[in-house]
Amino acid sequence: MSGWFGDSGAEGGFRLLGTRCSACAAVFFPREDAYCRNPHCAGDGELAEVPLSPRGRVWSYTDGRYRPPAPYVSDPEVPWEPYTLVAVELEAEGMVVLGQAAPGVGVADLAIGMEVEVVGGVLDETAETTWTTWRFRPVTDGADGDGWDGTDAEARP
Ligand SMILES: [Zn+2]
Repeated sequence: MSGWFGDSGAEGGFRLLGTRCSACAAVFFPREDAYCRNPHCAGDGELAEVPLSPRGRVWSYTDGRYRPPAPYVSDPEVPWEPYTLVAVELEAEGMVVLGQAAPGVGVADLAIGMEVEVVGGVLDETAETTWTTWRFRPVTDGADGDGWDGTDAEARP
């Protein structure tokens, strides 16, 4: 799954990577490098890599009870642990991206329309290698006031 995301190293530098068609400006994630899949595209566009929006809004979520599709590890020999799957709408790109919720984030912490951000996470690791993936977690900085109000609301003076 190389090339699906990147991290510039700066704060908030973890971003999903898609591709954008230069002819019609359609954005694809997972990335599409072969040809533009927009049926209305005039054609002859170049597909260039673009970082996707770091934040989006919860479009749907579910308490996953089944093994996820590729690119997630799905070895039938490995015990399966349920997880929370989130579909996040990226307004600027006009698309919905699927991902798991960050560790500790369950369906009780989520709501439709909630602002979430993408963060890096560990997908799997062995003694030799760590595979990373993306996760979604509620935005907690309260910058726009309508995001996750968290559990600290009652603790405020
Ligand atoms: Zn196009």
